[in-house]
Amino acid sequence: MNTREFGTRSGFRVPRASIGGMRLPQDDDEAVALIRHAIDSGMRYIDTSRGYGDSEIKIGKALKGGYRDKVILSTKWSPWVSRIHDTDDASESCVRHRIDESMRRLDVDHLDFYQIWNIDTREHFEEATAHGGMVEGIQKAIYEGQVGHTGFTTHDSVENLLSYMDAIDWCEVILVSYNLLNTRYAPVLAAARERGIGTIVMNPVGGGKLTEESVYLARIAEGVNAVSVPDMAIRYVLTNPSVNTIISGISKMSDVDEVMASAASGPFSPEEMARIDAFLELVSIEHTGFCTGCGYCMPCEHGVDIREIMYAIYDERYWGFSQGARARYEGIKGAKAEACDHCGKCEPKCTQKLKIMEEMQYALSRFGEPALV
Ligand code: SF4
Ligand code: SF4
Repeated sequence: MNTREFGTRSGFRVPRASIGGMRLPQDDDEAVALIRHAIDSGMRYIDTSRGYGDSEIKIGKALKGGYRDKVILSTKWSPWVSRIHDTDDASESCVRHRIDESMRRLDVDHLDFYQIWNIDTREHFEEATAHGGMVEGIQKAIYEGQVGHTGFTTHDSVENLLSYMDAIDWCEVILVSYNLLNTRYAPVLAAARERGIGTIVMNPVGGGKLTEESVYLARIAEGVNAVSVPDMAIRYVLTNPSVNTIISGISKMSDVDEVMASAASGPFSPEEMARIDAFLELVSIEHTGFCTGCGYCMPCEHGVDIREIMYAIYDERYWGFSQGARARYEGIKGAKAEACDHCGKCEPKCTQKLKIMEEMQYALSRFGEPALV
């Protein structure tokens, strides 16, 4: 498989598709066979976490028999995502303890990467980088040879992440979410690349959303000669020169085969990218001014979950995920559009000045009756 420089700081090269260990099969033997199939197919980087159930243990079993030497093994942890004990914190000593524990669970004597899991706020960043904090703990583990390299995963704001960029000499790799539905981290990926930080993208198919049926997206996929919408989604991400590799959560053999086939198809041409970007731009223009999910209109005295209903409308109207939107609507736990008695009290509170009562009527017309089959 084609490999790409994994940033310049780490010294690794990495294949375009990597193993996400967050949803491995329940059965140990199946998980081992699947991980080995992924490695035999050309995947090399493995992303797991202390917080992914028994993922580390299953990966450890799969890496016996010579597989350990074929992979770049990465795990991660932070106290703000996964508190193993009540006393867990972002200190040097705690992260050292967690590193030891992950190595035992993976049954390895060396981790190629140990990442800080989800630096999602400036407070997290400050805690992790403080004197005596996680970064220092990981650096000591690197000095002592337990760990090779480090970095972090994040959902922090673009503004914050760009402001960290010149203060993270310690960071060799960064992992963010990026896909057709949400390209907001494009400037972060570009800034990381400029600094030699390796880049990993999670959720290349929008956390599964881009596997849902959408007539709009299917039409665009056909227009750029992609075999499916997920294929288009993966290739769209990999066409971005700032993306080194994507991680794909694998739970069955075909997950590996499909992502490998998409990665092998190569990037889109500039004309194909322009076509996809024109569609994305159109969607973006069309939904400008639509619901931001702020929730200021709530609570409704009839319990109508306005925000969730708006999300379902958004999926259906702008992206064409008609089945997925209906399922989302049907899954709403609060009252649905039929409970709206048109009192009008929510509308003056809407930050987007939306005609909420009309939107409730729209939702009723689209989702109020069972789907015809
Ligand atoms: S108009 Fe409908 S959704 Fe808005 S507050 Fe009244 S009942 Fe609730
Ligand atoms: S106030 Fe308006 S924009 Fe905010 S959640 Fe309610 S409908 Fe959406």
